Amino acid sequence: MKSGISIDEVLAEVVAMVRPHFGKGRPADYIPQLAGVDPRQFGMAVCTVKGEEAYVGDADVPFSAQSITKLFALGLALNQIGDEVWTRVGKEPSGTPFNFLSQLEHEQGVPRNPFINAGALAITDILLDTVPSPDALVRDFLGMLSDSRLEIDEAVARSEVETAHKNRAIANLMRGFGTLTHDAEAVILAYCRQCAITISCRQLARAALPLAADGFSPIAEETIFPSRLTRRLNALLLTCGTYDSVGSFAYRVGLPAKSGVGGGILAVVPGQATIAVWSPELDRFGTSVVGAAALEHFSQLTNCSVL
Ligand code: GLN
Repeated sequence: MKSGISIDEVLAEVVAMVRPHFGKGRPADYIPQLAGVDPRQFGMAVCTVKGEEAYVGDADVPFSAQSITKLFALGLALNQIGDEVWTRVGKEPSGTPFNFLSQLEHEQGVPRNPFINAGALAITDILLDTVPSPDALVRDFLGMLSDSRLEIDEAVARSEVETAHKNRAIANLMRGFGTLTHDAEAVILAYCRQCAITISCRQLARAALPLAADGFSPIAEETIFPSRLTRRLNALLLTCGTYDSVGSFAYRVGLPAKSGVGGGILAVVPGQATIAVWSPELDRFGTSVVGAAALEHFSQLTNCSVL
């Protein structure tokens, strides 16, 4: 990253630049428990592969990780069964919202990619082959990678399980096609609990470091993903990580990234750093408005776009 100024100075500039973007989006309200979050929060953390850390604002406030967890669940599944994952789920952008149903029927219950909800449900189904609680597996994986003890927010989990009508329809459709092998309700429960993991920007940026460091976690001091898999995870983030706004996100920010409806976005600068940003107000694609603006400014100021 080239900017001539320190990361702390870049973050201070980003904070000033994003201020006008507050109030342009709305926190997720289809999961009732998320609607109650104070919308004007903002945190950002950067971890470099060399061990530097910088953070600003609410970077230590835990938020609902939601779909960002799908990346780590996918990493676990790929480590477990390798390329067999790709017999269950595709690797193409969907061009549709994350909980879109009819594309799945047209495509015989095979999800376009592992980051839309259907694909994440398929990954949960794979993890259920080997563990009774994939949600706890993902929580503990993220905890190990960030050197912290993470929690599942039970109120958020309950709220999502109670209102997961569209996700239930997706799971049942896949069960009908035979692309889910476990009981649909068991998959929904584990998926919703996984999404309800809470994490702060600082913890998330640390946890994602293997994606920037060729698969190695400097925090856990071990290789988490083979180098080739790390590149592939970044390719999937770049092409599928922000759903049906992935093209405009790449145009603006130019980094592999994963959004979540809790308002978090994780971005990777391969070979250099991870960036986690959080602010609850979302655009209509489920991406944090202020978070995306912050990443856009950061990428411009540091010239770190991969494109
Ligand atoms: N738990 C959310 C859902 O299933 C995750 C969506 C997201 O973060 N994009 O709807």
